[in-house]
Amino acid sequence: MVIVLNRSIRESDKAAIRSFLEGRGFRVREIVGEEETILGAVGLVPIDFREVEVLPGVDRVIPISKPYKLASREFKKSDTVVQVGPVRIGGQRIAVIAGPCAVESAEQIRETARIARQSGAVMLRGGAFKPRTSPYSFQGLGEEGLKLLREAGRAEGLPVVSEIVSADFAERMAEYVDMFQIGTRNMQNFDLLKRVGAIAKPVLLKRGLAATVEDWLMAAEYLLAHGTDEVILCERGIRTFETYTRNTLDISAIPVVKKLSHLPVIVDPSHATGIRDKVPPLALAAIAAGADGLLVEIHPRPEEAASDGPQSLYPEQFEKLMRDIDVLAPVVGKEIARLPEPEAIALRSGSESEGDVAFQGERGAFSEIAVHRYFERSGVRAVPCKRFRDVFEAVLSGGVRHGVIPIENSLAGSIHENYDLLIQYPDIRIIGEQKIRIIHNLIGFPGVGVDALKRIYSHPQGLAQCAQFLESYPAIEGVPYYDTAASVAHVARSKRPEWAAIASAEAAATYGLAILKAGIETNPRNYTRFFVIARAEEPVPADANMASVVFATRDKPGALFGCLQVLADESLNMHKLESRPILGRPWEYMFYVDVEIPEDRRRFERAAERLSAETESFRILGRYRAHSLGT
Ligand code: PEP
Ligand code: MN
Repeated sequence: MVIVLNRSIRESDKAAIRSFLEGRGFRVREIVGEEETILGAVGLVPIDFREVEVLPGVDRVIPISKPYKLASREFKKSDTVVQVGPVRIGGQRIAVIAGPCAVESAEQIRETARIARQSGAVMLRGGAFKPRTSPYSFQGLGEEGLKLLREAGRAEGLPVVSEIVSADFAERMAEYVDMFQIGTRNMQNFDLLKRVGAIAKPVLLKRGLAATVEDWLMAAEYLLAHGTDEVILCERGIRTFETYTRNTLDISAIPVVKKLSHLPVIVDPSHATGIRDKVPPLALAAIAAGADGLLVEIHPRPEEAASDGPQSLYPEQFEKLMRDIDVLAPVVGKEIARLPEPEAIALRSGSESEGDVAFQGERGAFSEIAVHRYFERSGVRAVPCKRFRDVFEAVLSGGVRHGVIPIENSLAGSIHENYDLLIQYPDIRIIGEQKIRIIHNLIGFPGVGVDALKRIYSHPQGLAQCAQFLESYPAIEGVPYYDTAASVAHVARSKRPEWAAIASAEAAATYGLAILKAGIETNPRNYTRFFVIARAEEPVPADANMASVVFATRDKPGALFGCLQVLADESLNMHKLESRPILGRPWEYMFYVDVEIPEDRRRFERAAERLSAETESFRILGRYRAHSLGT
């Protein structure tokens, strides 16, 4: 802490302050400035600052270290990812928890769970003990409600969260819920925080109605200090003078808390606004501001809800919100967390050779980022390869179980070499898809100004995508290099501060250089779609909703029309159609089609059978789970 002394302080008072602090175990240093004299007191000593503030000769006390420790970023630099059953909250996923305000009946909670699951929620919420403002309002079904919530969650494979209001019930409640919720009104119920913390289950901690960020983090500190490592903070609106909405959602708390703490932050737009039509815009704002997820009230028939009907979303509103989040997520470098089908979980994390995934490029390449994004839950090792063909070879030979290859960029179009390789390797299948936003950064030696640069290296695509930035510095020469990440390695090796490169932030970190300017791409809507490939004997993911197929038509009028007619007959939604010359057969073409696999998979299978009969050649390149169907 820093103690600012009165200008006219007597030497005897100063000595008394010093000996008071030293007596408490602080090390004290005096700094005499032109304007003020201050004492710096250092040491891990618990103290009430007011004890120092009241000493004669003290003008004011400025605390330096934060009162919370375990919840602070200083204590843990990396983001905490809280694991609730198969669901991970924090990191690069957006987890959406949905359900009714209160569990009302077995039918109501089962129906809501189904709606939540179908639209992509990963956890089910539902109050059983409702802390209502009025004693005459519906108070919840109590323990019976918890049973119904657990059953509904199990039926849909959704972990459940519910609010606890009494410390004495903590052990009993732990049998029903996968995560405790501490409500707004109980944020500073310290006995409750201690008892719930000691159970060491995940806890969702709502912000108090009139709690500062520091009060809130101190409440989290109680939970952490008593045993749980898994705390999720939930901003749900605070009291302000504004009465138009139920509360005022403090969006700014999200980046503030994320800087101060390593804990995930989610947002409850339902209790924040209290009005249904305000929920989706604020939910999207929260995601844009960096929230790790949402807690949203939904109800199959909100007008019949026993509590909070006016703020509960209709099923179709929730579905629309989830689709909008799906589109927004890549803009903030995230994606919606999904619950894979049980078979898909086994596929992604079960095998012993799961460890290795091949990608083309140097360390820090966008392909490597795609590897880690897709395999987030399994901690795989990314293996760099020189050429795209080497990725296919590594997978085919069994050297690695999976490979990740870029297939198209939203600005530059398809990467034809990889389409051709998919044809040339019939024993390789696409089993997954990953889209990432491409953010280009100017990377160089720390502290160098852009004006001091003479050369900027990057892949020609990287240079082209940052043309506007480069045009504004005509004196700097753009030098093409074979790979974006490799251009960073090249600059780092050169030790020439007048050189820089354009690549990912990860590449800057990998080669120990600094980001001189972030996000210099001309068009920020720059996404690359990657395919995850595996050997053909790998099972088709159980949650696949998209297929990529390729066929060559017979040489007759209307041949392509006939093929598309097959898709139309089965009402299959086509996403992409592209023609490519057939290698070695000039002026003959193959057609690549991405087509949605509907819930009734037989429609896709029938179409595939008919296409194989009607075309000269037909192949399914793979079936996989595609996200952002709407984009
Ligand atoms: C709830 O989520 O059910 C609830 C009562 O919220 P809050 O504690 O934020 O008012
Ligand atoms: Mn509610």
